[in-house]
Amino acid sequence: MEMNGTEFSVIGAGIGGLAAAVALSRKGANVTVFEQANALIEVGAGLQISPNGVAVLQALGLKDKAAALANIPEAIVLRDYKGAKVTRLLLNENAAENPYWQFHRADLLAVLSNAAQKAGVKFRFDHKVTNVLQNGAGVSIEFARQESVLADCVIGADGLRSTTRSAFFQGHSAEFTGQVAWRGLVQADKVPNGLFANETQIFMGKGRHFVTYPLRGGSVINFVAVEERKDWADEGWNIPDTSENLRRAFSGWCDPVEQLLGQVDHTFLWGLFDHPALDCWSIGQVALLGDSCHPMLPFLAQGATMGLEDAWVLADALEKSSDIATGLRQYENRRKARTTRVQKAAKRNAWGYHLRMPGFRGLAHAILRHSSSDKLMAKYDWLYKHDVTKAQ
Ligand SMILES: Cc1cc2nc3c(=O)[nH]c(=O)nc-3n(C[C@H](O)[C@H](O)[C@H](O)COP(=O)(O)OP(=O)(O)OC[C@H]3O[C@@H](n4cnc5c(N)ncnc54)[C@H](O)[C@@H]3O)c2cc1C
Repeated sequence: MEMNGTEFSVIGAGIGGLAAAVALSRKGANVTVFEQANALIEVGAGLQISPNGVAVLQALGLKDKAAALANIPEAIVLRDYKGAKVTRLLLNENAAENPYWQFHRADLLAVLSNAAQKAGVKFRFDHKVTNVLQNGAGVSIEFARQESVLADCVIGADGLRSTTRSAFFQGHSAEFTGQVAWRGLVQADKVPNGLFANETQIFMGKGRHFVTYPLRGGSVINFVAVEERKDWADEGWNIPDTSENLRRAFSGWCDPVEQLLGQVDHTFLWGLFDHPALDCWSIGQVALLGDSCHPMLPFLAQGATMGLEDAWVLADALEKSSDIATGLRQYENRRKARTTRVQKAAKRNAWGYHLRMPGFRGLAHAILRHSSSDKLMAKYDWLYKHDVTKAQ
């Protein structure tokens, strides 16, 4: 279809929405991003972007800019909660392949938003969307500030609690998965030198796990700490929590975990929620993208990466189709099986990290210990080696 002059509205300026805005505007579309916040603000946290996501950054012409801000880890090391190494999976060994990167979220957001601005994308902050309606030949978006706009096509990239999803797709509400995650950053000079190498470390214990990796040239250490819980009463999904609560949950774990947690001043707690799968992601000229249509547990570090993949396929499918509705259906057809597979794989990882019975956990760790890094990594070839910018 002719992208030039077509008016696209993207709701949400997260990784998925910004990547979609860049990809669509590069095809000639007029794109406006509507964001409820009054600026691009980001709670300090890290983000791992695996080679399949880097492939999209490359196709969007952003690889060099992103590379300057990325941390390049050597390996993912799995350990038990006492610190004993279970296995070490080598990353970034083959220079010919796309790398595995880690970012401060704010850095990746800045790369995408600068690219969007350069490509002519218009930003409307402080625009909380309250409704999305089919309106004759176009789609109408209503805002909390009592305004509305009309677009040819609307992309709902408004995250886990998507208004587009509930307004237009009658989606089900999210369900608590029985897991919460604390996230935060610690300045590396606060922990003993050499405590953390340039690796992702995953410490696994009964009903809990702890992930850490360095960012920004090793000056900052990112952590994610996950605990299984029965109830989640709070309405907020990223609420401040006390560092004492976090330390209590991981007390008795190995020195690196306890020493790092000893330096945490403030932290945020996420309830991890799941949505039943949607029957369809697109109706007419409206489609969902990223967490709004396929939220996933963070245990495969793929949520934002899938948003990048969605964005590239969305723009490609639209360009190759005769009209918007056909293009959005093609986008959905090309994405659904893969994102569903990733959602399921992420859920399985949670189970594997949190094994409760010591005997069973010991056996599982022994199997991992005796498998080679190549063999274990090859299990993820379907994920990391898939390049949506080359596949049709
Ligand atoms: C603990 C944890 C660790 C993670 N680690 C990784 C990782 O290492 N790698 C990875 O790939 N993924 C990771 N993820 C997942 C990743 O953070 C998400 O999948 C990703 O940020 C989703 O991007 P998005 O653009 O779809 O939505 P979001 O980032 O949620 O962005 C949605 C945007 O829409 C805006 N918005 C919402 N409602 C409205 C409205 N009504 N009107 C206007 N604007 C609105 C919001 O303000 C927000 O800016 C992790 C998640 C968690 C919880």
